[in-house]
Order: sequence, then C-alpha cells, then structure tokens
Amino acid sequence: MAARTLRIGLIPGDGIGKEVIPAGRRLLESLPSSLNLKFEFVDLKAGFETFEQTGAALPDKTVEILKNECDGALFGAVSSPSTAVKGYSSPIVALRKRLDLYANVRPVKSVMTAKNPIDMVIVRENTEDLYVKEEKTYEGPEGKVAEAIKRISYKASFRIAKMAGEIALRRQKIRDSGVPSIHKSPMVTITHKSNVLSQTDGLFRATAREALADPRFKSVGVEEQIVDSMVYKLFRQPETYDVIVAPNLYGDILSDGAAALVGSLGLVPSANVGEGFAIGEPCHGSAPDIMGKNIANPIATLRSVALMLEFMDEEAAAAKIYAAVDGNLEEGKLLSPDLGGSATTTEVVEDILRRL
Ligand code: ATP
Ligand code: MG
Repeated sequence: MAARTLRIGLIPGDGIGKEVIPAGRRLLESLPSSLNLKFEFVDLKAGFETFEQTGAALPDKTVEILKNECDGALFGAVSSPSTAVKGYSSPIVALRKRLDLYANVRPVKSVMTAKNPIDMVIVRENTEDLYVKEEKTYEGPEGKVAEAIKRISYKASFRIAKMAGEIALRRQKIRDSGVPSIHKSPMVTITHKSNVLSQTDGLFRATAREALADPRFKSVGVEEQIVDSMVYKLFRQPETYDVIVAPNLYGDILSDGAAALVGSLGLVPSANVGEGFAIGEPCHGSAPDIMGKNIANPIATLRSVALMLEFMDEEAAAAKIYAAVDGNLEEGKLLSPDLGGSATTTEVVEDILRRL
C-alpha cells in the first residue's frame, strides 16, 4: 500500500514556540515506517515577532497556505505584549476565525500511577456564547448598566456535541489498542447551567442530547452536569470524567482549571478543530522566562502532534505517541525542570523518540 503523505504547516511563533515546534517535527519524522505515513513540512510565520517585522501578526500568506496546501498544522505560542500594542491582536484567535476552527479540544492526562489519576478531554465550543462580544453600556434610571449577549445556536451546539461523541469513540479505540487508561467505556458529560439559563443553556443541553442520541454513539454513555457542581467534582473526583462538552465560557474556565490538576502547563496539549482540519497547539504561552535555554518541556507539543493526528484519523500513530510520552513520565528519569527533573528539552525528546 502506498504511504499516505500528510503536509503539515509549522508555525513556531515566539519564545519557546521556536524550541518545541521543531521537537514536534522531529517526532513526526521519527514515527515508525510500519505506520506507512510520510510527512512534508511548510514553515509558516505568525506571532509578535512577525508583527514587528511585517506589520501583520497573521500574514495572509500563512492563512492561504494552510487553507490550500496543508492537511494539518502545529502552532507553537505567541507572546502577548503586556500593554496593548496598536494594530496587534492574537494570531491564533484570528486563525480560528478564518479557518472556522469551531472546537477547542483539550485533553488533560496524568500518569496512571498518580494518586488521583486523570484522563479527560474538554471539548469547548469556540465561536459563540458570550464570546460574540456584543456588549453595550448605557445610562439606566439608576446609573450605568452594561450588557453582553450570550448567543447559543442549534447549529454550533449540534456540531460540538457530535464532535465530542466522535472523540469519545476514538479515545475508546486508542484505549483498546493498549494505551492504559482509568476508563473502561466512553462517556460524554454535557455541561450547562440550564436551571438558570433555560433558553440559552437549555438549547445547548437539548441539542447536545439530540446529537449524541445518534445510533453511531450507542456505545457512548451520556450524562449532564450543572457547571458549578462540575467544578467541585472536577477537583474532588477528576477521575470521573472522560469527555466533557461545554459552551464557550464554561469550557474556557473548565479547561484552565483541569490543566491545573496535572502540575505543569508543559504537559497539556490542545487542538483547534474545524471540518477536516486541525491545528495542534500546546496550551502554554511563549514562556519568555525560560526561552533559549533548552529546558522547555516539549510534552505539551508532542501530545498536540498526537492530537492533530487523531483528527486525521491516524489513531495508531497517535496511540504510539501517547504511549511513548506516558512511558517517559512513568519512568520519571528524564524529566524537564518544570516537573522537578534536570533533563533538557532535547533529552526529553530523545527519550520519547526512543520509546516509539
Ligand atoms: P505569554 O505571554 O506567551 O502567555 P507567559 O509569561 O504568560 O507568556 P506562559 O507560557 O503562559 O508564559 O507560562 C507561564 C509559566 O509556566 C512560566 O513561568 C513558564 O516558564 C512556565 N511554562 C510554560 N510552558 C512551559 C513549558 N513548556 N515548559 C516549562 N515551563 C513552562
Ligand atoms: Mg500566558
């Protein structure tokens, strides 16, 4: 069988993005040939440095190449200037819009030998809710009033819940292929606050139920939870959760909260996903305090590579990467400083590549 060739856009961005994205590339180049995959890479620009050089944080050329030539992409990090800089806005936010990457997918996993092992993924709707940014301020009879629109649509709720169902099935497939987990069967938890917001969150909840009632998802358990009690349970019994699906704002809060459960930002991957296109992105920022020292933890990026491959239906390749990363963490001999070790970025990468 001819090898499948995948063309990957590489956007290192700023700071440690320039150190971890090359590690992601090395990982793809080192996948075993038995997977029958070939990769081509396109180096692309975005970020604050690009803004300073060209006046655009996200050059049109980057977007066009991603759209027309790439099967997927990896995004490093961009530094956010501490004070607003005229004309500068986040390129990853713009990229999500321009490529209609409507889902933000964030797996949070600890080693299975941890005292309270965690293995969950938060699937966050990324186009609407309060983030439509329709706000206004006016003078009411008793003083100033500010209002924001919370918009929830059937279309966006349906497609995000469907994606959560698909992710639940795929995670089960990866578990079945031998990657250890605390979960035995797939489960999706729908998050909402429809006891208070009966129309907006009510629509999200009902639509998610409808999407997940598809016979395709008959092996997937579906439950729901009010967001505040979810936060409580997320910290008390995080092992309960497999796949969490949430509207934009709750998803934002839950995914940062969940990331805090595993100790370092350097471990947490994410993907920005649309129809047939995914950009893997480590959750951390550009970490200027550690850049250029070869000590950034590359695992968030390596896991983001695996996550991107999942959305290309390359579960076997993803499973290999997850198992290699888990092996490195469980053995605990070559860990980067954020995890209490003294290994360099290069040493961690090499240990993981050896385990492939
Ligand atoms: P930015 O403006 O780009 O968001 P930041 O200063 O907020 O930069 P973050 O990347 O968000 O930096 O990181 C917050 C803290 O976590 C920093 O102290 C950083 O060194 C640390 N950190 C982030 N990512 C990693 C990583 N991959 N490995 C080790 N430490 C990291
Ligand atoms: Mg930051």
